[in-house]
Amino acid sequence: MFNKKIENLRNSVRNIPDFPIEGIQFKDVTPLFQYAENLSDLSDVLTERYKAKGITKVVGIESRGFIMGPILALNLNAGFVPIRKPGKLPAETIEEDYEKEYGTDSIQIHKDSLSPDDIVLLHDDLLATGGTMAAAYNLVKRMGVKKIFINFIIELEDLKGRNLFPKDVQIDTLIKYDI
Ligand code: AMP
Repeated sequence: MFNKKIENLRNSVRNIPDFPIEGIQFKDVTPLFQYAENLSDLSDVLTERYKAKGITKVVGIESRGFIMGPILALNLNAGFVPIRKPGKLPAETIEEDYEKEYGTDSIQIHKDSLSPDDIVLLHDDLLATGGTMAAAYNLVKRMGVKKIFINFIIELEDLKGRNLFPKDVQIDTLIKYDI
């Protein structure tokens, strides 16, 4: 039943060639949220994967991690914590810098948002080079939580983003592409 749902979701992802710049095959996830059946299937499949893991906080990365993140948190009886670009979070934050294709970027999390007994599920829509999630992983790791799981809806396998993470970290992706 879950395989059928994943197949339907895969068929709903829209490929947009040359967006935002020439040469990029942009995977548009909005149809997964736009249609009630897709949204419900996505929620079911992701919740099933993590329901027995004891997750206490889902941490979503701005901005596409803010869609399924809170849905998953609700389903898992967990809290939701945002990771945002600099200057957006109002209370005291900690920050991590990372390399982008051109220059560097930073992300922040509220300093009081996680505690040592938290089991964290880090979520974003898509794993490309992995730079953003690796920075998010380092940020959460610095806060000294009990365990970290990582989830993406989509993985672009050829970019080998997985290699940025320690081998013992469980990284789970629903739909894989080899372009
Ligand atoms: P990265 O740090 O390279 O793993 O990518 C960071 C973010 O950029 C991902 O979470 C996506 O939201 C977005 N992104 C990168 N490449 C693509 C792509 N080919 N299609 C859609 N979104 C992408």
